[in-house]
Amino acid sequence: MTQDTAFSGYADPALHARGLFIGGNWAPGAGAIPVHDPSTGNRIADVADAGVDHALRAVDAAEAAAEGWRKMSSRQRSEILRRWFELMRAHAEELALLISLENGKALPDARGEVAYAAEFFRWYAEEATRVGGEFRHTPSGAHNILVDHEPIGIAVLITPWNFPAAMATRKIGPALAAGCTVILKPASETPLTAYAMARLGEEAGVPPGVVNVLTTSKPGPVTAAMLADKRVRKLSFTGSTGVGRTLLAEAAKSVVSCSMELGGNAPFLVFDDADIDAALDGAMVAKMRNGGEACTAANRFYVQSGIHDAFVEGLTRRMAALKLGRGYDPDVQCGPMITTKAVEKIDRLVSEAKARGARATTGGEPAGESGYYYPPTVLVDVPTDAALAHEEIFGPVAAVYRFETEEEAVRLANDTEYGLAAYVYSGDVMRAMRVGRGIDTGMVGINRGLMSDPAAPFGGTKQSGLGREGGVTGILEFMEPKYFAVEF
Ligand code: NAD
Repeated sequence: MTQDTAFSGYADPALHARGLFIGGNWAPGAGAIPVHDPSTGNRIADVADAGVDHALRAVDAAEAAAEGWRKMSSRQRSEILRRWFELMRAHAEELALLISLENGKALPDARGEVAYAAEFFRWYAEEATRVGGEFRHTPSGAHNILVDHEPIGIAVLITPWNFPAAMATRKIGPALAAGCTVILKPASETPLTAYAMARLGEEAGVPPGVVNVLTTSKPGPVTAAMLADKRVRKLSFTGSTGVGRTLLAEAAKSVVSCSMELGGNAPFLVFDDADIDAALDGAMVAKMRNGGEACTAANRFYVQSGIHDAFVEGLTRRMAALKLGRGYDPDVQCGPMITTKAVEKIDRLVSEAKARGARATTGGEPAGESGYYYPPTVLVDVPTDAALAHEEIFGPVAAVYRFETEEEAVRLANDTEYGLAAYVYSGDVMRAMRVGRGIDTGMVGINRGLMSDPAAPFGGTKQSGLGREGGVTGILEFMEPKYFAVEF
C-alpha cells in the first residue's frame, strides 16, 4: 500500500497534518519520523521530528497563550471544548480510519475509541464551569479559610500509541477546562491522530499556543528540556511503568507535579455462581478490546474449579471464532499488534508458559503473515509463577488459572506489582463487592468487562500510577488549591 492509497479513504484532506504544531503554526522539524501501517508493515507517512529547540519554542508558545486562556471565562473555554467534541463526532469515521491505519486496531474498536475520546471533551466542557472553592471557619475562630483553585500552569502531556485519541483527550480536556495551556507529545508510532485532532481544535476555536503538538524521535532529551524549564509546572504521562519511573526522577529535579497512568496486569475472577454467559461476554470485552493492547486488559483469568472447564470451553470457542486481519478490512475483529517487537514479546511469554506445562486450546503461535499478527489465544494449565502471570502481555492471549477458595482468588489477584484494574464475576453481589474491596487496584469491574468512562476516576495503585484522570477530580490534577486566610 503506498502512502497515497493508504490515505485515499479520507473525505477531509485537512486531517492530513504532518508538521509540528507550535503556537498555531505548522512548522517543519529537524528531520522526519516514518509512520508504519501495522496491518501491512508499509510506511504510510512521515511526520516532523522535533528537537530540544522546537520543544522550548512550544513552551514559549504555551506561555504566550497562558494568560489569555486562563483569563477567558470558563463558559467560553467550555464552549470551545464543546465545539471540539462536535467536530470529533462529525469527523468520527475519518478519525477511526486514521487510528486503524496507524495503530492497527479493528475499525469497530477504532470507532469506539473516537466516541470515548470525544466524550472527554464533552465531559470537561461541562466540568469547566463547575470548579468550586471552599469556605470554612477555623475551629479557633481566629479567621476564615477561603480556598480557590487556580490553573497549575503549562502542562506537558505524553501519551502512548494504544489509544492515540482517547489518551490525548483525557489529558487535553481537563487541562484546558482548568485554564492550562499544553504541549502534547504523542507516541511516534501513532502521531497522525494527534495532529488530526489538533486541526480540529483549531477549527473549534482553540487559540494559538493553547495546544501545541510535537513528535520526536528523542523523547528523553526533549522531555527533560521541557521539564527543566521552570515555566512547565505539570507532567501528565500515560505509558509504561518503566518510562514513568524515569520521568518521575526527571520531574523531581524541578519539582514538577506529576500524574502517572502506567502499566497494568488485571485479574479477571469468575466464581462458580457467576452467570457464565455474562462472564464470557465480559471476558471477551476485557481481553479483546483493542486486540488486548489496553492497560485495563484482563491478563490473568482466575476461574473457580466448578465452572473452570465450561468457561475454558466457551472462551476457546469465542476466541477461535474471531476474524484476524487488517484492522480496516470489513468484518475484522482482531487487527495486528503495533510492532514486530510486540509480537516477539507475546511469543516469548507464551513459549515460556508452554515450556512449563501450559497448553493452548486455540492459537498459541504467531500468525506468520505480513504485518504484525498474533492470533487470539487461550492458555490453560499455566503455572502461577510463569512470566506471563507477572508481565503485561499486551496482546490477545488469555491465560486461565484454576482456584478453589475466595481467599485464594484474592491472594492470586493481588500477586502483582500492578494495581490498575480488576474484574469480578459472581451471582452474589455481596461476595463480588467483598472480593473487589480485597483487591488492591484503583478500579474494579463488578459483573462488567468494561469500566472506562469519562465521568469516572480512572487510575491505579502500586506501580500502576499516581493520580486519576476523568471524573469530577480529573480537573484538579491541573489545578493548585490556593488558601486565603481571611479576617472579617
Ligand atoms: P511507553 O512508556 O513506551 O511510551 C509512552 C510514551 O512515552 C510515548 O509517547 C513515548 O514516546 C514516550 N517516551 C518513551 N520514552 C520516553 C522518555 N525517556 N522520556 C519521555 N517520553 C518517553 O509506552 P507505550 O508502549 O507507548 O504504551 C504502552 C504502555 O502504556 C503499557 O504499559 C500500558 O499499560 C500503558 N498504558 C497505561 C494506561 C493507563 O491509563 N494506565 C493507558 C494506556 C496505556
